[in-house]
Amino acid sequence: MFAVWKSKYVIAVLAALIVAEAALSVFLVAQHSAQKTTLIDFTVVIDAGHGGIDGGVVGANGVKESSLNLAYSKTLGGIFERAGFNVVYTRTGEGGLYGLPTNGFKLRDMKERKRIIDEAQPDLMISVHMNKFSASYRSGPQVFFQEGKERGKLLADNLQRVFNDFTGKEREAIAGDYYVCRETNCPAVIVECGFLSNPDECAALQTAPYREQICNLIFNGAMLYLYAG
Ligand SMILES: [Zn+2]
Repeated sequence: MFAVWKSKYVIAVLAALIVAEAALSVFLVAQHSAQKTTLIDFTVVIDAGHGGIDGGVVGANGVKESSLNLAYSKTLGGIFERAGFNVVYTRTGEGGLYGLPTNGFKLRDMKERKRIIDEAQPDLMISVHMNKFSASYRSGPQVFFQEGKERGKLLADNLQRVFNDFTGKEREAIAGDYYVCRETNCPAVIVECGFLSNPDECAALQTAPYREQICNLIFNGAMLYLYAG
């Protein structure tokens, strides 16, 4: 008798739990879509540097910067998307953006990136690259911004701060002249994720855990920038 009552009780509790769980998932879905709606106006452009016949820097084992840039851009974009941000990619395939690989392809490639960025009217733009140095000892991420652009500098400073916490280095974001930063209106940075000229870092950069770690740091730096205003 007790056993029957007990089993009925257990069934009732289980049923209640199932209903509660269903209600909770409906609530979470609603919450998730509410979050998406509130953040949907915030757009990030992620620009995977190089592509096609322009492979960029080549690592010791023959790995192309353009392929790594693409992998990092997709991982980084996924992090922003899961957080509810609107993400626009300049490229999602291995090809370049220049059309035919004829004379002047590099400028056509750059102009197409600018066109995509202008059309997206993003709140910020992150161009993803890999670095190279003449000596193999140099390592770690380095952020660049367009000389004279204050918002870009602020974004770059915050990203570099997060990277420095990670590496223990005391680097500063570096000003320079970069087409995608100069010719666009949003806060824009070039993130050099690491040095392909350093064999150890080149190997690490090709692993998924390190890629995810670096991309999480970029996301954290962007959040720090948004918080800093
Ligand atoms: Zn590059």
